[in-house]
Amino acid sequence: MNLPKLAIAALGGTMSMQATHAGEGVIPTVSGETLLSAVPELSKMARVAVETLGLMPSASLNFEFLLSVLSWAKCQVEQGAIGVIITQGTDTLEETATLFDYLWDQDEPLILTGAMRSAAQAGADGPANLLDAGRVALAEKSRNRGVQVVMNGQIHQAKAVRKTDSLALQAFSSPIVGPVGMLLEGTVHYLREPSQRTLLPLPHMTTQNIAMLEVSLSADTLMLENILELGYDGLVIAGFGAGHVSESWVAVIEKIAKVIPVLIATRTGSGATARGSYGFIGSEMDLTRKGALMAGFLCPRKARILLWLLIGCERQGELASHLNNDIHR
Ligand code: ASP
Repeated sequence: MNLPKLAIAALGGTMSMQATHAGEGVIPTVSGETLLSAVPELSKMARVAVETLGLMPSASLNFEFLLSVLSWAKCQVEQGAIGVIITQGTDTLEETATLFDYLWDQDEPLILTGAMRSAAQAGADGPANLLDAGRVALAEKSRNRGVQVVMNGQIHQAKAVRKTDSLALQAFSSPIVGPVGMLLEGTVHYLREPSQRTLLPLPHMTTQNIAMLEVSLSADTLMLENILELGYDGLVIAGFGAGHVSESWVAVIEKIAKVIPVLIATRTGSGATARGSYGFIGSEMDLTRKGALMAGFLCPRKARILLWLLIGCERQGELASHLNNDIHR
């Protein structure tokens, strides 16, 4: 039988973790090949090409490495894969998904998955997630949907998904819009039509540094005051509520925004920044007048990815046009 080709890259994360000695914490040691052997059903559905591109906790992934993973994934499609799966740690999965989604210019699905329970733990979810990811990656109806995250029986759009629980099996959610699809009895179901995506060119620079600061009650301005001196190329602020900062931060932000892009997102975990509701010092209207940009529905981490990419392809002038209040883009 002529089975379709499916490509899988393993990068590490809890899915690949086990303890080397009893009583020690788990570390990434399990190869992609071994992960695949726990899911024999996949090899009946597709000719699977699997590679272990890394064995890392996802906290240690970096942009350069991820760009090389992306180019591997594109190569797999050129070589006939009808879908590609990347397995990685869940801690930074929402950021990787966003980075890839801005750059994935293929019709074929690129699916990210991971696990909340390590390979040796009772009820490990890695094999189930990998099998579901395979089903989604191989489904014709997954084409032209960009990058998606498959976890715990749900499918999430890259731009909407966030890790919203530290240890629970149901660790991922898409605030406001919910999952874009789900797996029922092994079948892929989508709940919405594919949404319009923003595609960016590959960055030709990767050395730009984007700082990210979160506001907090009665916070000092020490770190903020040093952003320019430290040579940052951009700043994202996880602001209060609808995108606000305290009065003491405003003059410093105004100074910084004259030199590098400053993006204000919300630290709340859900919802968009405001544009024209509040007028106090430190409000979104005040900050916008003083040169900052409001991130809309992009959470601070996703806003940082966008800024990094735009600076990397010298298109930061387009930043404002990418920050709209359309949650899907
Ligand atoms: N807890 C993480 C995970 O779910 C570890 C990591 O992100 O690598 O995989």
